[in-house]
Amino acid sequence: MEECIFCSIASGRQPARIVHQDDLVTAFWDIRPVAPTHILIIPNIHIASMLSLSPNHQDILGYMLSIVPAIACDQGLDKNGFRVVINTGPDAGQTVDHLHLHLIGGRRMSFGFE
Ligand code: AMP
Ligand code: ZN
Repeated sequence: MEECIFCSIASGRQPARIVHQDDLVTAFWDIRPVAPTHILIIPNIHIASMLSLSPNHQDILGYMLSIVPAIACDQGLDKNGFRVVINTGPDAGQTVDHLHLHLIGGRRMSFGFE
């Protein structure tokens, strides 16, 4: 069976522009950025989507959010701000079935839903 692409990135089998990695999470540049800064933050363990979350995951989810400020500051996004997005399922446009948080910044964004 083909391995999940984000599991491969977390384990180092698939190359990526990694900006942060520790025991719990990996953060790397999106291959098709929608803004000057577009970084994905993933848990190193496979969680398919937000729908798979339960209270057992509160530590990992809290941790994923808690490292956003450090990564955002590293990327110079603290001055003008940024957006954090989690797409879930086909209607939201989720294309990779491994939970990921998009950290997007570096340009002005509207609050439009296409
Ligand atoms: P989503 O549409 O929310 O599932 O987001 C998946 C994101 O993963 C998209 O923005 C893709 O550009 C990105 N992506 C897919 N494959 C890779 C990869 N190998 N390295 C980095 N980003 C990727
Ligand atoms: Zn995975």
